[in-house]
Order: sequence, then C-alpha cells, then structure tokens
Amino acid sequence: MAPLTATSAAREILTRLHDVMASRSAAQTKLNQVVQIIGEALDTEVCSIYLLRDGVLELFATRGLKQAAVHVTKLVLGEGLVGTIAENVETLNLDEATSHPDFAYKPETGEELFHSFAGVPIVRREQAVGVLAVQHREQRKFDDVEIEALQTVAMVLAELIAGAGLIDESGSGAKGNRDNGPVRLAGLKLVEGMARGRAVYHQPRVEIEHTVAEDIEVERHRVISAFAKMRDQIDGMTREAEFGVAGEHHDVLAMYKMFAYDEGWIRRINEAIDSGLTAEAAIERVQQRTRMRMREIADPLLAERMHDLEDLSNRLLRIVSGQLGTAAQLGLRQDSILIARNLGPAELLEYDRRRLKGVILEEGSLTAHVTIVARAMGVPVIGRVKDVRRMIGDGDMVLVDGTAGSLVVRPTAPIEEAFEAKMAVGQRRRAEFAAMRDLPAQTKDGLRLELMVNAGLRDDMAALDVTGADGVGLFRTEFQFLVSATLPQRERQQRLYKEVLDAAGDRPVIFRTVDIGGDKALPYMNTSGGADEENPAMGWRALRLALDRDALMKVQARALLEAAAGRTLNVMFPMVSEPWEFDEAVALFEAQRKWIHARNRAVPNHIRYGTMLEVPALAECLDMILPKLDFLSIGTNDLTQFLFAADRANPKLAERYDWLSPAILRFIARVVRQTRAAGVPIGVCGEMGGRPLEAMALIGLGIDRLSITPAAVGPVKAMIRSLDAGALRTRMDDFLSRPVRSLRVDLTAWAESNGVAIT
Ligand code: PEP
Ligand code: MG
Repeated sequence: MAPLTATSAAREILTRLHDVMASRSAAQTKLNQVVQIIGEALDTEVCSIYLLRDGVLELFATRGLKQAAVHVTKLVLGEGLVGTIAENVETLNLDEATSHPDFAYKPETGEELFHSFAGVPIVRREQAVGVLAVQHREQRKFDDVEIEALQTVAMVLAELIAGAGLIDESGSGAKGNRDNGPVRLAGLKLVEGMARGRAVYHQPRVEIEHTVAEDIEVERHRVISAFAKMRDQIDGMTREAEFGVAGEHHDVLAMYKMFAYDEGWIRRINEAIDSGLTAEAAIERVQQRTRMRMREIADPLLAERMHDLEDLSNRLLRIVSGQLGTAAQLGLRQDSILIARNLGPAELLEYDRRRLKGVILEEGSLTAHVTIVARAMGVPVIGRVKDVRRMIGDGDMVLVDGTAGSLVVRPTAPIEEAFEAKMAVGQRRRAEFAAMRDLPAQTKDGLRLELMVNAGLRDDMAALDVTGADGVGLFRTEFQFLVSATLPQRERQQRLYKEVLDAAGDRPVIFRTVDIGGDKALPYMNTSGGADEENPAMGWRALRLALDRDALMKVQARALLEAAAGRTLNVMFPMVSEPWEFDEAVALFEAQRKWIHARNRAVPNHIRYGTMLEVPALAECLDMILPKLDFLSIGTNDLTQFLFAADRANPKLAERYDWLSPAILRFIARVVRQTRAAGVPIGVCGEMGGRPLEAMALIGLGIDRLSITPAAVGPVKAMIRSLDAGALRTRMDDFLSRPVRSLRVDLTAWAESNGVAIT
C-alpha cells in the first residue's frame, strides 16, 4: 500500500462518498454507508456519527459500536468527549479515552473495548452540528494524517446532512465560537438611538453548496483565477486608500496584501483540493483549520491578524462562488441591524432606509463620514465592537442601545421587555422634543440662537419641518456625488439645489461646495490626480482639488447660481487654508454669475460668501479674510483632527482627545472673539455642536449659531431653553484657565447645579 498522506486518505474517502451523496437512498442509509467507508479507509475499528438534535448529540450511525445504541445513546452539549468536541468546536485525539476528565461511559455502546479515541466536529456556519469519531482497541493516538482526513471528511458530511435535512437549524447548537444564549457586547456610541432587528452582514457569508469536486483540475483553476482577482482588488484598494477611498485602514490593507500573496495559504488550499474538495470547500477547510489553531493561541495580536485573514478568506470565497453582492445589493428583507468591519458613506446610503434600523461596526469613529451619514439617516450606530463575527450569527435578533453604546444579541424575553420599555421612554422624550418644535431656541436670559440642521440629500429637507429648525447651516453637496453611480450632471445638480431651496422656503440654506477626497471618494472619478497620498485627509481634497480642476466647480457654481435665481444664495467653501483660496473661489463664482447674467438669464438677488474654518492656519489670517466674509462656520470635525494631528477616522484615536479639552475650546474662543469683533456672523457646523454639553460650551464661548444633525435639535433646544447664557459666559475664562485634560467634569457640574438640561 502507498504511504498514507492526508491528501490521499481524504481523497480515497471522498471519491467513495461522492457516489453515496449522489445516490437516491435515504439519509440513514447514506450515514450507515459513510461510517463503513471511513472505517475501512482509515482502518479504524469504530467510526461513529453523532448529530445535534434539539441541543442533544444523538448517535446516528456507527460501525464498531453496538447497533442497539444507534438513536439511543445521547449526550448533551459538554457531556462526555463527544459533547465537549461539539461544545468547543475542537478536535480531540486521545490514546486512552477513559483518562480524559470529560469521559462519560455509555454502557449500551460497548465502547469499553476501545481505548484510543479521536473526534472532530462537523461544522456548519462556524458551529458544530455533529461529531465524527473513530476509535481503536489499541492504545495509540491517531496520526495527524488521519485527523486531517477526518476533518476534511467532516466538511463533506456537513453538506450531506444539511442536504438530507438532518441539521438542526433551530439554533440550539453548540456554544463553540458563538454562544447561543444572550450576550451583551459593548462598543463606542457613535450615533444615539435604539433599534431592534435581525443581524445582517454587509458582506454576507457564502453558503457552500458542493464540497466534493467533480474535476480537481477545474477546481484548481477556479482558485488560481480567484486569487488573481482578489490580488487585483487588494492592490486597487491599496491604491485607493492612498487617497482615502477604501474604508479600510492602511495597516489592515498591508495585512490583506501580505495574506493575499502568501504562498503557504495557496498551497494549503491546493492540498485541500487535491484531497477531493471543491474550491469553496477547500478555502473553508483551510480557514477552519486556521480557526482551530488560533483558538489555542490566546494572543490578541494574532487574533487581530485572524480577523484580517477571515475577511480575506470570505472575500476569496465570494469571488470563487460568484456570490458577490453586498447585503444592500441583495436587499434587506426585514428590519435589520447591519454588521460590518467598516463602511464607506456611499455603501451605507445603498441600504433601504425603511429596513435599516441600526449599524454595528468593528471599527468606526465619531466623525467618520459613514457616522455622519448614519446620523443624518437617523440610524443608531455602535462602533468598535469587538469579536462581532464570533458572537453574532446571521439572522440573530439584535437589540442596539445606541444610548448606552451596547447591544444584546439573542435577547431573552425579559431583556426584550426591558429594552422596549427603555425604547418607549426614548419615544416619550422624542415626543417632548417634538412638542418644542415651534418654540424658539432662546435661552432663559433671552438670547435667541440660530439652530440649524446639517443636510446633504433631498430627503433630509423634511427634517426642517419636523424639527422646526431655522434653516440648513451646512448642506453637504458632495453627498449627491457620493450616492451617484456617475458624476451628476449640471441639470441634475441644479434640480436638487432648487428642490432644496423650495423645501426651505424662507429659511436660509448654506450650500457647501463639494468636499471630496479624504474619506469621501468617488467611484467614478480619480480624485488622487495620479499621485499617491499618504495622508488623504490632509491631501488634495475639497477646495484644493476644486480650484486645481475647476471644471467641476464651474459646473457646480452654475447649477447653484441658476437654482437660486431671484433668491439669496449662501455659498460656503470647505478646507480654506489661506485667504487667497477663498478669493479664487469667489472669483470663480463671480465669473459664472457674470456669464449667466450676460446671457440675460436670472441670477440670485444676493450672494453671500462664507468659509468654513477647519484648517487651523486660517485662524492665523483671520484679520485678512474677515473683511471679505459674509459668514464663518467652524467645522469642528476637521478642525479637531488638524489641531490634534489625530486622524478623525482612526479608531485608535477615537476617544483620545475630547471636544471639551481646553485646547479646542481656547482655540474656538479666540476665533469667536476676533470674528465677532469684525461683525461677521459665526457658527459651528461640526458634530460637536449636536451634543448638548458641547453645544452649551460653544454658546459659552460666544457662538450663537449651531448647525447640527436633525436628531440633535430637540435635545440641544431643550438645553438652550434651560440655559442662562450670560451666566455661563462670565464663567468661561475661569474654566479655560483650568489645567485639566478635559472640562467635561467641570462643565457637567456647572450645568447640573444651574439646572441646564444636558442629557
Ligand atoms: C467639519 O469638518 O467639521 C465639517 C462640518 O465638514 P465635514 O464633516 O463634512 O468634513
Ligand atoms: Mg470638514
């Protein structure tokens, strides 16, 4: 006999299993044949299959144990060796079964005759659905070759028993990776709110339909070409990430790249194919093996790598199986909680708003654009949730508590009840806020503030009436570019801007010219200019790109000017770093205005030009730019990242610096003082202004216009109406001189002792 290798052993079994699987006999007959085939091929005295039914492992077929034990011997999860294997989704290989602490003797099987024992879990969707076990009289461990073969065969068995309807899909399965009871996971609260729905992975898991190869050469070629495609994708993502397109971070991409080119990985997949598996099953088989190995090593760094490899393996599976769509493309079928490692804003916008109830990200940060978009959509988001894939199964019920920054998976009835009660409280609060809709945003001491909303899409305009806001303080025009498959033409832009102005009526709308680049890249346009950018947020983006490639901005200027014909047009430029950039942008708009006017077409009655202050350099030249400005708006999202040199999308920095740090507040105080002295209206349009305590601090610094996400209007208005702005303003200098990391504690204490509604 030729020396046994894992490949040849598995292949012999798989070739014979192929015929069994194809036959039309009953499931029980097939299982009886399977234990015979495996037993003969591996020359083991006992071969048994246990399947999980209603949380209990039942002996379904055996060669070598007493036949009377079939359907009689049962073990609960965690009971005996078989129960342990299923519960932990692990392989056991013992020379003396009885000396293992978990051994449980089942007299009806007659197994006292056998000493050695090896068992592998039969796995489906990362959970054990059964156990394949072999035993010998002899006291010797099984060879690695035999174990490998058993694991490969177990994959095929998973297909066979699923096909025969023998798999218990009731969710009473093993603990293993994924605890089937309720679990509470904590993360970072990115968008407040509460939601319930079924878990849906943005990149759905591939269902492997066939595990046994018809033609090994064909499978080999499928894997080769899938690898080539995957490498192209990763190379593409790396190029894009250099100017900020891809949601992934550089170190993740570097790791992807390393794995994508790892010859060892390909070799192992090819070996699995040689043993008779299809390309899909081979990829999964290798991944299963890696998972099992990694489970034995408790190293967080390696766990992180494993995560990357899981992502990549899933990507490879999707390519090879042609199951490429994201959950958005496949369509949500019910109220859903979306789960992803990270998402781009455009990817999120692809989802059906009616069914998307919440988002869970493994990464994510407060001011990443995906968060801003979700906030605008009113969808709660929890970020930086660890171990998601291990803990949440596709279709599991998930309760998202975006207020506490936590979620519960597979809740019990009492948990659901408590959650619903809390949700009802939230609804009551929302009703209270709604009742304030027509009340002015006026402080107790009579200061009338302008409370505006941030928007970006036509649908967002409904928020004006719902919230009773004073206007749109930031209309992010790039959102239209992000949600389009192609560059929006002038007519389309103009139509949108006109609809927005119509919806706003008398209320002002501040249109910000496109801010693309950074984490807002367009799939149809190369915004990198061919250059590799190491720091896209600080790169060729927003006004920089728009002034250098002015065709885009000219089109937008014409669309805005024509849309606002006969009315007031408020235009704001993003990322102005030096006054000349503002001058050039205004000159471009004025040239377009003259061009339209020269053709006897209507132009706006009045154009007000303003700038965002989000690059600290501009603050140093305020005296030069202020005389030219109609208004100034502080963009605290970018300002904070530049002031602290802390990437706003980097999850590791998400909680490092506080918006209530003296550094930011002092900076803003200086800008406000100078701007007000020049008589220029000043507001804040970053996310900071949407949080009651932060908004209170900004008002304390002299800000009297806030443009915030619609959901924040109620809470911020409630804060404003309970605030004595004058009293706070007299205290701010004192607060700003305190040598603390953050003024959060001090400001909270002040708010509480002065009866300000900050929660
Ligand atoms: C900001 O930077 O604060 C801002 C409002 O603009 P965006 O978040 O779109 O960059
Ligand atoms: Mg910005």
